[in-house]
Amino acid sequence: MSDLRRDVEPAPGFFRSHTAWTIAGLASIVAVAAFTATVSHDRMIILIAVASVTLLVGIAASVWAKNRWEQAGQFYEMQKRETLKWSSRYRSLQTQSEQTEIVLSQLNDGVVLLSGGTEILIINDSARRLLALSTSEAFIGRRFSEIVRIPELIDAVDRASTNQNASIAIPRISIEIISGANTRLVSVLVNRVSDVPGSNVILVVHDETEAQRVEAIRREFIANVSHELKTPLAAIKGYAETVDLAIDDDHDAAKHFVRQINTQCVRLEQLVSDMMQLARAQSGDDNLRIEAISLTEIVRQTMATFQPIADAKGVHLSWEPTTVEAMIQSDRDATLTIAQNLLSNAIRYTPSGGNVRLSLRQDSEHWSLVVSDDGVGIDESEQDRIFERFYRVSKTREPTDGGTGIGLSIVKNLTRALGGNVRVSSCPGKGATFEVLLPATKE
Ligand code: ADP
Repeated sequence: MSDLRRDVEPAPGFFRSHTAWTIAGLASIVAVAAFTATVSHDRMIILIAVASVTLLVGIAASVWAKNRWEQAGQFYEMQKRETLKWSSRYRSLQTQSEQTEIVLSQLNDGVVLLSGGTEILIINDSARRLLALSTSEAFIGRRFSEIVRIPELIDAVDRASTNQNASIAIPRISIEIISGANTRLVSVLVNRVSDVPGSNVILVVHDETEAQRVEAIRREFIANVSHELKTPLAAIKGYAETVDLAIDDDHDAAKHFVRQINTQCVRLEQLVSDMMQLARAQSGDDNLRIEAISLTEIVRQTMATFQPIADAKGVHLSWEPTTVEAMIQSDRDATLTIAQNLLSNAIRYTPSGGNVRLSLRQDSEHWSLVVSDDGVGIDESEQDRIFERFYRVSKTREPTDGGTGIGLSIVKNLTRALGGNVRVSSCPGKGATFEVLLPATKE
């Protein structure tokens, strides 16, 4: 910009002003008049003529200089306006480019823009991560095939770049990317940005790992539900056929099979109700009403519900009340469900003559409900898996104890939704202890 100013600004100095020329002309007339008083008539005429010509030249030069100066000024103003316009355009382009960079860096999908010659023009962080490329190496300007060594992808890029007919879409490519111990499934969409062969090519890389995991869980869930429902339904069908045969001539057998049908119906009911509870637990805290409630009261209520069941099985049930009321920030029904599931399991997996104890503990931010028994216990290798849906330690799926394999999954999901945590410790053959931590009310 300073160079431009130097070019367009007229040179400073005496001759910049047209008045200087006028003064010079008048001065020459005065000088001539003074001189003519001392010289002859002929010479005087010559001098007057010279002085007049000098005056005219002075005026003409002055007008010419004035015009030049005005033109230079206008040119300078025009250049200044242009410069301002371009510098504002440059700034706005720079801002746009920074914004595009921010957007690209925030995308979960990978984006790579290639020139017609497949040199990398843009590559965002997600593309580097998903294609298992170095996060720091400079890739701009390098050929795509130098950086990415995946034949299907290189082939798709070449086809997209040279394809005569841009309307022939390149199908989405699915590839497994292995990075260290991790394998990731990604899908890549390769497209040319315009119809002209050799124009830029854009790649959009999408991580399919999570979608694949969710799909696998969904399939497993449907398989589990179908299996769990099929078992009692098959039993009901079998008993019903037997009742049909026995009803006329063996009333006792018919009664026995009707009772079996009833048992299986209760199991079906339990299964459906557990699945509905699990669905609610998995929907996060949407269905929860968090308020200050008494965990002590919840334990008392649960004990009252399960005392007859423990008595019938010959399991000794006890609890150590705390000196203060255990107040927590929680949902009443969800907390009751957690306590009931843990106590029901403890009684179920403790043989007759065993003990089940409930207690409450306090730390700085939580109250925990501890349910411990001296029953069958859980092997260490199973202790994480018991919180999975439908997982039961006993490998046989035929339930003899009324369990569905969903209880602890409900406990885990509800506890998480309530902002708490659940943990287990156990020694096989000696019993198990489950501890649920829930947020205490603030003083
Ligand atoms: P279930 O309906 O089968 O009890 P859960 O999800 O409640 O389903 O429990 C999953 C598995 O964890 C059970 O099948 C059982 O093997 C084991 N388990 C749960 N609680 C206990 C416990 N207190 N003692 C021993 N094993 C337990």
